[in-house]
Amino acid sequence: MDANATTPLLPEVFDAMRPFWIEHFGNASSIHRQGQHARAAVDHARESVASLLHCRPSEIVFTSGGTESDNLALFGVLQPFIASGEPAHLITASTEHHAVLHAAEALRDRGVEVTFLGCTPQGLIEPEMLRAALRPHTRLVSIMLANNETGVIQPVAELAAIAYEHGALFHTDAVQAAGKLPLDLSRSGELKNVDLLSISGHKMHAPQGTGVLFCRRSVRLAPMFFGGSHERQRRPGTENVPGIVALGRAAELAQSWLLADPAKEVSTPAIVPLLHAMGGSAGAPSVAPLSHAMGGSADASQLAALRDRLEAGILNVVEEAGVNGASLPRVSNTTNIYFDHLEAEALVIALDLKGLSVSGGSACQSGATEPSHVLTAMGLSPARSRASVRFSLSRLTTAEDVDRALEIVPAAVARLRTLSPAWRNTAEVLASG
Ligand code: PLP
Repeated sequence: MDANATTPLLPEVFDAMRPFWIEHFGNASSIHRQGQHARAAVDHARESVASLLHCRPSEIVFTSGGTESDNLALFGVLQPFIASGEPAHLITASTEHHAVLHAAEALRDRGVEVTFLGCTPQGLIEPEMLRAALRPHTRLVSIMLANNETGVIQPVAELAAIAYEHGALFHTDAVQAAGKLPLDLSRSGELKNVDLLSISGHKMHAPQGTGVLFCRRSVRLAPMFFGGSHERQRRPGTENVPGIVALGRAAELAQSWLLADPAKEVSTPAIVPLLHAMGGSAGAPSVAPLSHAMGGSADASQLAALRDRLEAGILNVVEEAGVNGASLPRVSNTTNIYFDHLEAEALVIALDLKGLSVSGGSACQSGATEPSHVLTAMGLSPARSRASVRFSLSRLTTAEDVDRALEIVPAAVARLRTLSPAWRNTAEVLASG
């Protein structure tokens, strides 16, 4: 249950990419038959991704992953201002992924003014905070769509509209949203004011090292690398044809999965209300019936039901535990639970020994003992941050997987807590009260 770290390839995705390693190995820039075959496959994949995002194929830039897409968005917009010496201001948030945070810091070192917005205790970036932070020379706002640690969804449509009114561009890191939420970048769509959007292949059942930056036609993007004229001069380098083909196939499968969701038949004016309809949980979770979800989730509402079942099953039996970001809409696969009086790291290891993979903080930080920057920004104490564990399901997670986790997790928590003097005191108080 660590799908926010990475997901396995779907068999259909592997089958689609396999011939492009050996049989159809052409360079998509070659004019001979092998090259034309590769080019056609890349074009097809571009159309598939564009269809998932409701944008033009020419607005898709293939990259090496979410990190590159985020960096290309930020540097691609701001580098020309650095070069010309014009003042530039970037607004982002302290709850962003390091791919954005560290890129923003690197831009600050090069003379860009950067504002890192704080958030509410639930992890929300309030539109008023953004409004107050705007300056005449704000060129770019970058706020993620769904948080990788908590799953909390930001009101991106509203935030992007504020940036648009001000004349600033808007980028969103949609790495943890793509394939889980409908994303509509068309001129009449909910994300119509989003100018740049990042996707990573390996979070949606395509290979690691593949990604996309959506770049709206009107945006002038400077390349980060220099070489050939691939990707319309926005990202030079011989295309990773097998990876791109796989990403295109994964996008097609994600789209079918999203369309299978009955809640999607309802008109979808905004992501946040939609998520509530899909079961993005708010308040106390409820236990959903299992019968429809015995072989992975057929749609997003089934995935949310499994996540909610896991959450409720844990919270019903484990004391002094709760969900971080519970009262906001969240992506249907993620829950971040604190278990006071234990160290998440110890729980992650104990669960791993039982065959259950979860994550404390984000995967990129594992090994580090620093509390999560996201939970810290939400105002959690260092102890509670270090006691928080992320469970992230995928479309392949089954009801049996959830049942197994419900057998393992409460027992592991109870055992680790017996080793904690702080827990023994708390347990005595709970028992006497
Ligand atoms: N953005 C978010 C929200 C992520 O969760 C991740 C990866 O965990 C990334 C960016 C980086 O993506 P990649 O691993 O493809 O570089």
